[in-house]
Amino acid sequence: MLAVVKANGYGHGAALCAPELVRTGAEWLGVTDAVEGACVRKALSEAGVRAAQQPRILVMSGSLEEDAATLLKEDLTPVVATIQQMEWMLEAARGRLIQPLRVHLEIDTGMSRQGVTTGAPLDDLLEWIRLHPDISLDGVMTHFASAEIAGSHQSMEQRVRFERAIEQLAGYGLRPAWLHAGNSSAIDNGAEGTLAWLRPLARSLGAKAMVRSGLALYGYALEIEPEPGYSGSLGALVRPRLEPVMTWKARVLEVHEIAAGERVGYNGTFLAERAMRLALLPVGYADGLRRELSSTADTTRGWVMISGRRAPIVGRVSMNLTVVDVTGHDRVEPKDEAVVLGEGVTAEDHARIAGTISYEILCGIKVPRRLV
Ligand SMILES: *Cc1c(COP(=O)(O)O)cnc(C)c1O
Repeated sequence: MLAVVKANGYGHGAALCAPELVRTGAEWLGVTDAVEGACVRKALSEAGVRAAQQPRILVMSGSLEEDAATLLKEDLTPVVATIQQMEWMLEAARGRLIQPLRVHLEIDTGMSRQGVTTGAPLDDLLEWIRLHPDISLDGVMTHFASAEIAGSHQSMEQRVRFERAIEQLAGYGLRPAWLHAGNSSAIDNGAEGTLAWLRPLARSLGAKAMVRSGLALYGYALEIEPEPGYSGSLGALVRPRLEPVMTWKARVLEVHEIAAGERVGYNGTFLAERAMRLALLPVGYADGLRRELSSTADTTRGWVMISGRRAPIVGRVSMNLTVVDVTGHDRVEPKDEAVVLGEGVTAEDHARIAGTISYEILCGIKVPRRLV
């Protein structure tokens, strides 16, 4: 399994997560770009990971010419989809190559995002690689568009196209060491899991099969949903039992009382119908606390947890400050802890309220982080 730490470890801090993941056995990490790859290398060294224990690092978004020097210097393995990307690498490495440059080729099997399409474009690319011994095709990968759909027709089509691409590749005598596909949902999607399909395919080439997990490592999962008319095992629809890795806490700055009829926050959207006790927290949308969690007098949306009890957000979430309702709580004082995300409130709750997915909530968190 490749452990994805892109987008600053899904908001958890790649510099914190990468060394932990390597200590627990990750041999591959996935980052977004060369700059992030360099940061992760540095964090690993600073955490005492020695050169011999350094993992392979896959740069999952394609690279441009200006990234080539960093890819080489930091021993990062780029995902490539075009001949040009490999030419930039060779140009940057000119005269300094001790061993062939290892790349992973992404095949676009139907997501139409990143990757070379099968058929003629793939033929051209494979022929070019065959003629350039300084490039080593270390891995071949694809990405599923609908991994969280059990029995997905689109995933089936993507599998078929990937199998065809592998046949095409074998025709050029290329022997990658790794075949990889599938994200967290493809793993969660149990009985029809990606590895069960990928392993025999990899074996036919003498390669190893790998999946790439991000979200699940941080303790979240998308709901697995059936394709309409799905008749496969219901067991495949069971959500994995995962626990969120991150707890986000803030400390109460002030506590005060307001009388009925007072308004709270920008634009006075919250009107107190009764006397209330309010606590002020030093968090806001600049930290990643979504503004959609704001409440009006009619609609309570977001909340934090104080001493295990819900404290609803009152009025608008501002840039760096948020007011919560602690009326009826036992004694709340400055310095008390409020759980913004953690026990009793998850990134999925925030996502549901904000009309997005837990990924976006997590990636948006920008606060100092500490490993506990
Ligand atoms: C982000 C990403 C993953 C990981 O996805 P999760 O759903 O977080 O597990 C895997 N592969 C590719 C190509 C990605 O971009």
